[in-house]
Amino acid sequence: PSFGYEDLRRKIKNNIQEFWYYVTFELKKVKSLGDSFNLDKRNQDVDDTIKDIWEHKKELMLELDKLERVDGHRNWREKESKDLSDLVQRRFWHLQNPADCNKAKKLTCSLNKGCGFGCQIHHITYCFLVAYGTERTLILKSKGWRYHKDGWESVFKPLSDTCLSAAGASHSNWPGDSSKQVMALPIVDNLSPKPKYQPPSIPADLAPRIQKLHGHPIVWWVGQVLKFLMRPQDNIKKVMDYSKEKLNFEKPIVGIHVRRTDKVGTEAAYHDIDEYMVKVDQYFNQLETEPSVRRVFIASDDPKVITNARRRYPRYEVIGDPAVAETASVSKRYSDSSLQGIIVDIHLLSLCDHLVCTFSSQVCRVAYEIMQTYHVDAHDKFTSLDDVYYYGGQNPNPGAAILDHVPRRIGEIELRVGDKVEVYGNHWDGYSKGRNLRTSVTGLFPSFKVKNPVAVVDFPKYPDVPI
Ligand code: GDP
Repeated sequence: PSFGYEDLRRKIKNNIQEFWYYVTFELKKVKSLGDSFNLDKRNQDVDDTIKDIWEHKKELMLELDKLERVDGHRNWREKESKDLSDLVQRRFWHLQNPADCNKAKKLTCSLNKGCGFGCQIHHITYCFLVAYGTERTLILKSKGWRYHKDGWESVFKPLSDTCLSAAGASHSNWPGDSSKQVMALPIVDNLSPKPKYQPPSIPADLAPRIQKLHGHPIVWWVGQVLKFLMRPQDNIKKVMDYSKEKLNFEKPIVGIHVRRTDKVGTEAAYHDIDEYMVKVDQYFNQLETEPSVRRVFIASDDPKVITNARRRYPRYEVIGDPAVAETASVSKRYSDSSLQGIIVDIHLLSLCDHLVCTFSSQVCRVAYEIMQTYHVDAHDKFTSLDDVYYYGGQNPNPGAAILDHVPRRIGEIELRVGDKVEVYGNHWDGYSKGRNLRTSVTGLFPSFKVKNPVAVVDFPKYPDVPI
């Protein structure tokens, strides 16, 4: 390692120590105030301390970013990321373009799941992963699509140059008889047991490389599938480029997705725009240099969100198109213009430097997955106001305790190293909620004591595709 690396490493270690001295000292001061303190003064002190803690944290994060740069591995990371993506894309291409479509094993999947665009995209991604896992060419059935009667190819490139027909000599339904040429895969919700190839599984032969590169391997892997599936047709590419220019979409920029209408009160809670903007500010505050303008791109299914944000936040450059949001309301959603709107919104969200949204919405999760294809590792470029990342219908993948925890306060649970924990959610305050599968007790634990394991599963290795 270089002097720069060693020097920074020591500095970071030292600063963590200083950080601890500081926090402990300030908390002890609050404690020593006793009963006769001045409430206003104490509140002021606490606010000042929070500001100082923020500065400490900002400095530590900036140093860690620098560490990434001084160690000289940046070029390696970028090249490895590209090579790995190229390999995966070539394998996908190989799978989708068999030598003889009449003889090829096929998996059929209908795009017409009764849900929104993000949900349907995740549905065919799951189909694609099962196709990859069973070495069957995916045949997408999409005519009469609720978003566009002409189907998938009205907006995205076909999944194959040579093999789009579902015809075959013999048929079966999943999991059925694997010797049959054509296998039909239903939606994941109706499936038991669920295929081992679906998320959060990643292929064992690629796992060491993916894990070395990326902090959340399944998101990288799903991103690669979306890169293959969602290649825009020229007409949509034009609309994407035009929207980007018309909106004056420029970096640095934070993407905000606000999901309202039918979702609120049924599948997710209401979050005011102010809650999103607090996170936007945190993003800009932690940058080393303040940009000349704090720019945000807002996508929503409610046009009022964009117009209100413009009014309430005049000092920000709020970009977004209320007319597009208008087409996203439930009554107009399943139409051609709404389809263009959601494709452009997801595209622009994925291009942002950071995403602020609710991961309960598949729209934001798709944008986050696509975002990974533009960076070596963008797993931390998001703030979710509700859920942690998950893949709808995914196979169970409990977390693993890496440190013991002795509950101290009401509501906390015990952890022993190695315990499996079904994680329900992160409260984003240092604690997560989950159920310890050993004790069957549900409650809170410090988030850093449980790690999210990577589900490594044997997939075919595609030896015909050169590494
Ligand atoms: P979820 O219901 O939020 O998990 O996501 P889905 O994609 O399954 O369904 C929501 C649908 O609402 C989307 O597919 C769009 O049709 C519409 N929608 C939601 N948010 C937006 C948005 O920000 N922009 C646009 N254009 N449409 C949206």
